[in-house]
Amino acid sequence: MKTVQEKIAYLRGLLEGSKFYGDDAGTQAIWEQVLAIFDDLGRSVNVLGIGLDELAEYVEAIDGDLMDLEDEIYGEEEDEFIEMECPECGEAVSFEEEFLYDDDVQITCPECGGVVYQGDEFFDSDEQPEDLDFE
Ligand SMILES: [Zn+2]
Repeated sequence: MKTVQEKIAYLRGLLEGSKFYGDDAGTQAIWEQVLAIFDDLGRSVNVLGIGLDELAEYVEAIDGDLMDLEDEIYGEEEDEFIEMECPECGEAVSFEEEFLYDDDVQITCPECGGVVYQGDEFFDSDEQPEDLDFE
């Protein structure tokens, strides 16, 4: 697509080759003035367009930051709590559901210390066999 400047240059060429441009300096001065105004307007529109692009980019960045901030303030989702019964003493123990998706976590009963939930890959360093024989 042609820019406004290119269209004005083309129009100038057409004018100068036509009878409208006139033979006298007075008529030509009027056309020059009209073309100069078009040219100014064209440049202004280009500058506005560039400014608008920058502004749009900036607003997009602010929007992204705002979304992060909203997540931070309101939380992405409420933490869900679940309740399990301690197999040792029957105490109801509640903990964040998130822990269920952790493989290396262990939930113990606050009453008796019994293991309420243990992830598949939980490794208790206290239960490590102490005497390893490498022979
Ligand atoms: Zn217990």
